[in-house]
Amino acid sequence: MRETPATPAPTIFVNDTTLRDGEQTPGVAFTLAEKLAIAEALAEAGVPEIEAGTPAMGEEEIEALRAIASRGLGLRVLAWCRMGKADIDASRRAGVGAVNLSIPASDRLLSVKLGLDRAEALERVRRYVPMALDAGFEVAVGAEDASRADPDHLLRLAEAAAEAGAFRLRLADTVGALDPFRTYDLVAPIARSSGLAIEFHGHDDYGLATANTLAAVRAGATHVSVTVGALGERAGNACLAEVAAALESLMGAATGLDLEKLPALAERVARASGRAVPEGKAIVGRDVFAHESGIHVAGLLADPETYRGADPRLFGRRHRIVIGKHSGAKALAHALGERGVELAAPTAARLVTLVRRKATRLKRSLTVDEVVRLHDEACAGLQAR
Ligand SMILES: [Zn+2]
Repeated sequence: MRETPATPAPTIFVNDTTLRDGEQTPGVAFTLAEKLAIAEALAEAGVPEIEAGTPAMGEEEIEALRAIASRGLGLRVLAWCRMGKADIDASRRAGVGAVNLSIPASDRLLSVKLGLDRAEALERVRRYVPMALDAGFEVAVGAEDASRADPDHLLRLAEAAAEAGAFRLRLADTVGALDPFRTYDLVAPIARSSGLAIEFHGHDDYGLATANTLAAVRAGATHVSVTVGALGERAGNACLAEVAAALESLMGAATGLDLEKLPALAERVARASGRAVPEGKAIVGRDVFAHESGIHVAGLLADPETYRGADPRLFGRRHRIVIGKHSGAKALAHALGERGVELAAPTAARLVTLVRRKATRLKRSLTVDEVVRLHDEACAGLQAR
C-alpha cells in the first residue's frame, strides 16, 4: 500500500482574505453560496486561517460569517473589525472565534479618519483588545497604513498590543507603498522586539505585493495575508498561489498547503468574481507551463531541467508543448509522433515554414490535427516538385 507522505507542520501560516479584502475589489460581490464554496475550497487546500468578512457591514455579512464559522471547516475564521465596541459587538453575533481589530498607524489616517493622535490610538488598543478578549475572541491587532507610519510609533503599538493580550500584529501596506527592501527594514525590528507573531498584508500597487510578502517573512513575519488570484482593493493583494509556491520552493518554508489544489481554487474564485485567471498568471495561468520556442522545446525534450522554472508537478500540472510560429523541427516531430506520423528530414524545413505562415495568419497556436494536415501538404508539395 502506498503511504501518503505527512505534510510537514507549517513554519509560515497563510491567512487568506479573499472573502474580505478580495471582495472589496471594485465590482466583485460573492453570494453566500459562493462564499461557502470558496471557504470550503480554502480549507481543502489546507489554508489554516481565513478572514471571512466585516461584521460592521450589517446583517447579511454577519449571517454569511456565521454560516462559514459554523461549517466546521477546521480553520480559524476571523472577522475584520475597527478598533471599537460596535464592531466587537457585531462580531459576537457573527459566531467567529477570532477578530482582527484594526487601527490606523500612520498620522495621516489617524487624524483624517479618526481625529486621534498617537497616544489616543494606543489608548484605544489598551481599551478594546481586552474587551474583545473578554468576549471570548482570539485577538489580532491590525496596524493599518503601517508602511507610512513612524517606526517608533509602530514599536509602541506592538508593545501596547502585546501587553493588552493580542496574539498577533498585522503590518498592513495598505496603499502598496513598499518595496522589498523597505519591507524588510520595517518588519525586522518589530519582529525582533515585540514578542508578537507578525503578519504582513501587502498590496500590489507597484506589482510588488508577493515580493514584499517574502521580504517580510525573511524579516521575521510568520503569517502572510493573501488572496486567491490577488483579488483586492485597486491592484489587489499578494497572490496566494505565488506566495505559497515561492515560500515552499524558493525559501524552503512549509505552509502546510496542498499546492496541487491551487489551480482549481484559482478557477473557482475566478468564476465567482467574474475575473478570469490571466493566461500568463504565475503558477495557475493556462499558459505558464506551455512552451513553443524551438530552442526551449528541444532542450525540454532532452532534459526538462534545461528550461524549467517552477516545477509544474508541484501544482498538479505538467509541461505542455504548443505548436506555433516559433516551433522548430524537434517540436513538430514530437507533435506528429503523438499521431504515429514520422517527420522525415527533407519535409521538416518545409513544414516549419508552413507552420510559421499559418500561426502568423491565425495569430494563435496550432492544433496537432492542423500540424498533421500541414505535414500532408508539405509531403505533397515535395512530391510535386
Ligand atoms: Zn488590504
